[in-house]
This record gives sequence, structure tokens and C-alpha cells, in this order.
Amino acid sequence: MPLTEEQKAEIEAARAEPRPTLRAVSEGMERWLYRPVEVLDHGLIRVIDYMGDDSAITQAARVSYGRGTKSVSNDEGLIRYLMRHWHSTPFEMCEIKLHVKLPVFVARQWIRHRTANVNEYSARYSILDREFYIPAPEHLAAQSTVNNQGRGAVLEGDEAARVLDWLRADAGRAYDHYEAMLSQAQADGTPQAGLARELARMNLPANIYTQWYWKVDLHNLFHFLRLRADPHAQYEIRVYAEALCEIVKDWVPAAYAAFEDYRLGAVQFSAKGMGCLRRMLAGEVVTQETSGMSKGEWREFEGALEI
Ligand SMILES: Cc1cc2nc3c(=O)[nH]c(=O)nc-3n(C[C@H](O)[C@H](O)[C@H](O)COP(=O)(O)OP(=O)(O)OC[C@H]3O[C@@H](n4cnc5c(N)ncnc54)[C@H](O)[C@@H]3O)c2cc1C
Repeated sequence: MPLTEEQKAEIEAARAEPRPTLRAVSEGMERWLYRPVEVLDHGLIRVIDYMGDDSAITQAARVSYGRGTKSVSNDEGLIRYLMRHWHSTPFEMCEIKLHVKLPVFVARQWIRHRTANVNEYSARYSILDREFYIPAPEHLAAQSTVNNQGRGAVLEGDEAARVLDWLRADAGRAYDHYEAMLSQAQADGTPQAGLARELARMNLPANIYTQWYWKVDLHNLFHFLRLRADPHAQYEIRVYAEALCEIVKDWVPAAYAAFEDYRLGAVQFSAKGMGCLRRMLAGEVVTQETSGMSKGEWREFEGALEI
């Protein structure tokens, strides 16, 4: 369900009232403030508030009195140094508060990230909307045969149509019964008590949408993004992480560039892997059998080297 006209008006009203401030402002982030970014079929991410910018990181690292900026290149170099050496606390000085609308099964993965503050829409207090995530046909994939935690080829033909029909029909039927249980009248108008919202909700499937406010510092957000923007993360949470990456890139460009370089695009080698790498660079032909690594480790090692 798209945002209502009233919700859009509230967002525009919030954006129409700029206020002068002495606090650090990230010009890039100001463009995102309050505006919804659509994710999946009914989901969204909106930045509700933020604290700090790139210079807040270097300011904290130097424990300076003023803004702390020596020069942009100095700041970038320091941020890269901090990221490279896992000096993480300066990144905790920046915070972001988001409004996220997401399917419940995605929320279950997301909530595992404990180093954040969450307040979720109460389905004890309010009635959930009739909104269910139904994958686009190109994301309706078969179980992977090589990765138990992944998906393989896209379903086709009758099977794809059957699955989509079941997903839609089961969600619709569960919601019809949810409404019927909540109602204080039966279908024929006969009065009934109406089941409590906190109980009726247990009938709803995991693809129904929920919403929450989620506040996290930049260090822990980077940790979340490293895990969830990774190609191994499930598609449905990855698209939220990818949308967030675009926002963070504008918010703290230097920190995001360092994160992309040292975390997102980086690989980690074990001590055994480094040993093999040195032998290979010296011209030796190293195989799994002579590497001292398990088959799985060797496969991942080769994958990291793209050989
Ligand atoms: C690809 C993938 C597959 C996954 N599969 C599964 C699965 O099959 N089953 C499953 O249950 N989970 C699974 N998870 C979830 C995963 O195990 C983590 O729970 C999740 O990624 C959150 O990570 P985190 O604990 O590091 O993050 P956060 O909770 O944000 O914590 C950040 C860091 O703070 C520290 N920390 C936070 N709380 C504590 C604490 N109480 N005690 C000690 N240290 C703490 C840790 O160092 C932690 O790394 C999966 C995650 C991914 C990315």
C-alpha cells in the first residue's frame, strides 16, 4: 500500500520547516530526511533523524574542542586509518534513526542485531494492515542444491504460478479470518465479543508487514551492512541494506568509502591462507591437498582469489 495523502503531507510539512542549528549538519543526509525509500512491494526506509557527520568521527578521535576539522584530506586519511585498524569507537559518535516497514520474516533476521534501539508497531494495540510480501516472479527461486541457506534457479511455468497463487490465497484467507475474529459482528450481523488483537494476530503469516523505528550508531550500522549487504545475505533483507548503503554514502561519504574499501569489498585470509598465498606468489602450485585446508576452506579461498 503506498503512503496515504495524509502521510505524504506530514512528510512534506516536516521538510518545509528548516531550522537554524549549531549542530553538525550533513548536507548529503539532509536530502534524505523524512523521505520514504521504497523497498520490496510494500516496504520502506525513512531517515527520521541523525547525529554527526564525517567530521564528528575525526573530532572524537582527536578529542578536539571545536569542529575538529584540520582539512578534508587529513580527515579522510584519519578515517581510513581508524577503519583499517578497527579503532571503532569514533564511529559510534554518529547515530541514525530510521522508520522501517518490512515483512515479519525479514524483521526476525534484522532484530538479531542487538546493538540498536527498537520500537515496533504494536499489534496488541492496533490492527495490522492487509499487506503481504509476495515475491516478484524473478525472485521466486528453488532451494539451492549447493547451499542449504540459499536459493538456486528461478521457478518457472506452472510451479511458479501455483506457488504465487498459494502465497496470495493463504495470506488473504488468514487476513479474512483475522478480521472476522476481531469483528464484533458475525458475517450475518449477529453480535459477537470479538477476539483480542493480541490473540487474533497469531493467525497471520510471516510475510505480513510490520513497522518499527530503529536507532543505531554508525559502527554497529556498518556491522549490520557488512553482514546484510553481502551477496550471501537473503535477498529480502539485502535490498534494505543496499538502500541503506546509498543513504550512508551521502551521510558520511569518507567513512562510507573507507567501509567499502576495508570491509564491504575486502576479504579476510586465515594464517593458512596467507601461507598458501606466499607459496603461490613464489611460484609453487598449491592444491587443496597440499594447502592444509579443508575442502570448504579451499573453495572459499579460491573464491576470494577469484581463481
Ligand atoms: C548470512 C547469515 C546467516 C545467519 N544464519 C543464522 C542462523 O541460521 N541461525 C541464527 O540463529 N542466526 C543466524 N544469523 C544471525 C547471526 O548469527 C547474528 O545473530 C546476526 O548476524 C547479528 O550479528 P551480531 O550478533 O554480530 O550483531 P549485534 O547483535 O548487533 O552485535 C554486535 C556485536 O556486539 C557483540 N555483542 C552483542 N551482544 C552481545 C552479547 N549478548 N554477548 C556478547 N557479545 C555481544 C558481539 O561482538 C557482536 O558481534 C545469520 C546471519 C547471517 C548474516
